[in-house]
Amino acid sequence: MLSRIILVAVLGFIASGCNKAPAKPYPLDTCPISGKKLNDHGEPYVFSRNGQEVKLCCEACLEEFDANADKLLKEIVDKSKP
Ligand SMILES: [Zn+2]
Repeated sequence: MLSRIILVAVLGFIASGCNKAPAKPYPLDTCPISGKKLNDHGEPYVFSRNGQEVKLCCEACLEEFDANADKLLKEIVDKSKP
C-alpha cells in the first residue's frame, strides 16, 4: 500500500510540475553512477528531480544520470521504500 502512496505522490509532482515541495531525501550513501561512496572526495553534487533528492559523487556524473534519469530515479525510489 505504501508503494501506491509513493507512486501517487511522484505522479502528483510530475503532473503539477511543482518543484517547491521538499524533495524526498536521498536514501543511499553511494553515487548511483559510479557506485563510489559520497563525501569520499569532496562535497557530493546534490539536486532534486521529480521531488526526489539525488546525490552524485561529482558533477561529471550528471550527464550520465540524465541519460538514464527515468531508470535511475525509479531505482532510487525503490531503494527508499522500507
Ligand atoms: Zn562522479
